[in-house]
Amino acid sequence: MTVPEIHTDITFLLKTLEESGKKYDLEKIREAFQYANSLHEGQFRISGEAYISHPIAVAEIVAGLGLDTDSICAALLHDTVEDCADRTNLAEVEQKFGAQVAMLVDGLTKIVAIHIDNKEEAHIENIRKMLLAMAKDIRVIFIKLCDRLHNMRTLAVRGEAKQRTTALETMQVYAPLAHRLGMQKIKQELENISISYLDPIGYQEVQNDIDRKYGQNQGFMESVHSRVQQKLEENGIHFVLKGRIKSAYSIYRKMYSQNKSFDQIYDFYALRVIVDTELECYTALGLIHEMYKSIPGRFKDYISMPKPNMYRSLHTTVIGRDGIPFEVQIRTWDMHHVAEYGVAAHWKYKSGQKSGEDMDERLEWVSKLAETESSIQDPDEFMSTLKTDIFNDETYVFTPKGDVIALPKGSTVIDFAYAIHSAVGNKMVGAKINGMIVPIDRVPQTGEIVEVLTSSASHGPSRDWLKIVTTSEARNKIRQWFKKEQRADNIVVGRGIIETEFKKYNRPYTEAQWDEIVGNVAQRNGFASSDDLYNTLGYGGMAITKIATKLRDEFDRVVKPETPEVPVMEVDQVKVAAPRKHRGTGGIVVDGERGCQVKFAKCCNPLPGDAVVGFITKGFGISVHKEDCPNILLSRGKPENADRFVSAHWEEGSESAFAAYEALLQIHAHSSMTLIANVTMALADMKVSILAINTQKKGDGSILMNLTISCKNIDHYHSIVSRLKGLKDVIDVVRGFS
Ligand code: MN
Repeated sequence: MTVPEIHTDITFLLKTLEESGKKYDLEKIREAFQYANSLHEGQFRISGEAYISHPIAVAEIVAGLGLDTDSICAALLHDTVEDCADRTNLAEVEQKFGAQVAMLVDGLTKIVAIHIDNKEEAHIENIRKMLLAMAKDIRVIFIKLCDRLHNMRTLAVRGEAKQRTTALETMQVYAPLAHRLGMQKIKQELENISISYLDPIGYQEVQNDIDRKYGQNQGFMESVHSRVQQKLEENGIHFVLKGRIKSAYSIYRKMYSQNKSFDQIYDFYALRVIVDTELECYTALGLIHEMYKSIPGRFKDYISMPKPNMYRSLHTTVIGRDGIPFEVQIRTWDMHHVAEYGVAAHWKYKSGQKSGEDMDERLEWVSKLAETESSIQDPDEFMSTLKTDIFNDETYVFTPKGDVIALPKGSTVIDFAYAIHSAVGNKMVGAKINGMIVPIDRVPQTGEIVEVLTSSASHGPSRDWLKIVTTSEARNKIRQWFKKEQRADNIVVGRGIIETEFKKYNRPYTEAQWDEIVGNVAQRNGFASSDDLYNTLGYGGMAITKIATKLRDEFDRVVKPETPEVPVMEVDQVKVAAPRKHRGTGGIVVDGERGCQVKFAKCCNPLPGDAVVGFITKGFGISVHKEDCPNILLSRGKPENADRFVSAHWEEGSESAFAAYEALLQIHAHSSMTLIANVTMALADMKVSILAINTQKKGDGSILMNLTISCKNIDHYHSIVSRLKGLKDVIDVVRGFS
């Protein structure tokens, strides 16, 4: 591992820059150093060195990546705004070094504020994506990676707990980020250092094995080397050979993830051939396959099929002397630079300053890359990403504590409040963004700090919020609140909605007619009473459009037009007769008799297709249960109930006639921010309406979601359940509520 030299001035940095042969504004870099030096004066690192040695080291790594003057200045200044807030600020940095440097420093300062807890995988993924998304300029990420690399190189002086958390964070966030950007060199060093802190013994073992094996077989690689060299020279290929290229961590990971012993690592020995042209890559490959027997299935052409992070090379594994396998990687210099430096190779090896437009192109490319990358790692995730277009359509904002909350793009501060907790949303009276009071329909941007102002005196959400919010999660939670808290009000609102509908018909009706119409529609839609229907309409649990046709039909039937057009009506009635004749029966035939008053038991909500039985209730006709309903099983045991059971079955055709049976189902799932959105989206997709939704957290942190949905029949129900079971984070789906 590299033990960095400590520099407290920029002699070395300036020398590196001069030797690079690229153009730099050395005066500006000198000024940035002097400014940072004066600000950090009197500050020390835990190791006891002057603090300035850290920004200098970061600037040296940044220079090594070939980044430009502004990046080097930003690296020198990266901790000033954060750590010397009493003596400087962003405005002053901008005034001294220009808008670009200030923008980079600002981006770096914001990243520092991100709070990373290591508990939740989804959360880590959010952070990685946010780092990419919030960096208006990709150079911010490059400098941040250099900063992290230097902190890792000097981690030895920190306490054990700090070493662990820093190493873990590096492994989970920064190394994958470097990988996504194709920055293999930085990625490998980050991983190697991290693992040496996370598993010092395992790491040391691998190191020892590597040294031992190279010691034993030194002659083997040397002979491979010279044979390949001779062969390529004979064929007039201009090339450079490199050996011993596997990183300790890559071997460590193979051993532990594939549970292999060190001696089972196939491609432990590797040889890299770097040539001038793409054609020579294939020529060299042919020559090597001539010399050694290749292992089938191990040849990979990443030249014609580059990896998502732009990596290109030919890989093959062949058998050498004594049956020892080794891997050969063949690439051009261009490919080599991209493999080592990824996106940054653009700066290091292509001359010229980058214009703003170029930068945007870069960023767009990075976003696309991040998307494609996830497709490679996890096909399921890719599907869901594709569906909700998550990367491009998410905003990442902070809570005041620094937690990252991911919201669909366009979400308002109300959506944010409900994403935190329904109790926060319900008590919300206002919001602040970056410390400033904002209107309640403000849409926060990635990187902003959103604070919800709550008051226990709040009377709950306003109905207008339903028009403002954009996430179904917030909408459902608001409806839920109205459903629970405001039944009386909802009923009034619901009546009003129906009244508006009736006004459209432009015909007088009596109160008795109203009651009959609404009563029938309510019952046909599975509501226990008209009030329940009003309530549901009132809190927005069902749109009036869902029952508009039925209301109209019922209205026409009950409130006769003054001048009936007799012959036409008859024809009409014949046409619509089929679904109507079962009105009140819900499609159930009891003991061979049609049209008898039945209701569906709320305890088991039978669906067409379920085996059912009728039970004569004391208050209300016959209630229909599933045959295996626990209540029925219980009642059957009691002799006094013996003659209260009547046989019942579904009428033929009931399934198509009645599209709105209620079904209860319970989803058990891992806690996830996108769970409700995924469930509601899947249901919306299947045109299934949600009548009620209610979630609770279990002791183990998982989620129980009770859903009441509309359903046609048992087959429909099964198809809904199997779709829901396939959703991300869902553990199980069962019928009924436990
Ligand atoms: Mn730093």
